[in-house]
Amino acid sequence: MIKKAIYPGSFDPLTNGHLDLIKRGVAVFGGLTVAVAENVKKTPLFSVGERLEMIGTATSGLPEVTVISFEGLLTDYCRSAGINIILRGLRVVSDFEAELQSASINRQLCPELETVFMTPSDDCAYLSSSIVKELAGLSGKIEKMVPPIVYHKLKERFKNGSSL
Ligand code: ADP
Repeated sequence: MIKKAIYPGSFDPLTNGHLDLIKRGVAVFGGLTVAVAENVKKTPLFSVGERLEMIGTATSGLPEVTVISFEGLLTDYCRSAGINIILRGLRVVSDFEAELQSASINRQLCPELETVFMTPSDDCAYLSSSIVKELAGLSGKIEKMVPPIVYHKLKERFKNGSSL
């Protein structure tokens, strides 16, 4: 059976932690669909279009990566696209409870979908989109935390000290 893996998330914005996981996913599964969820409850800083563009640019050297966005249930998208593996990242212990819950719900909705967890390299273990946005808003140093395209987009968004 063909194994097709998806890496879903908000990616608001993509960080080097996400990129680390994408590369690990490609190494293990041979190819990977990075999927931006459109119906996230949190108000995003970047539009879906901007997030797709940033991920596309940051992964342009990885031909095995496909970038898409989806609306509605992840399990419905996976069924329609013939995807059978969900990749998620585990950083700190605090990720565990929510990830276990969503893996369990997704299994109830679609038993043939398997969730696989990977951990990032140590230097990405505490990196999150939220911390990067917070730092960018306070003019903190974020060059080493995000791909260059994301760095420039964040600089532009916060150039007057605010995202508005
Ligand atoms: P979501 O809102 O769905 O959690 P995120 O964009 O925050 O979306 O994260 C997508 C996935 O990437 C999640 O599985 C998350 O745990 C994982 N992730 C986020 N940051 C990192 C990181 N620094 N290292 C490894 N995995 C990460």
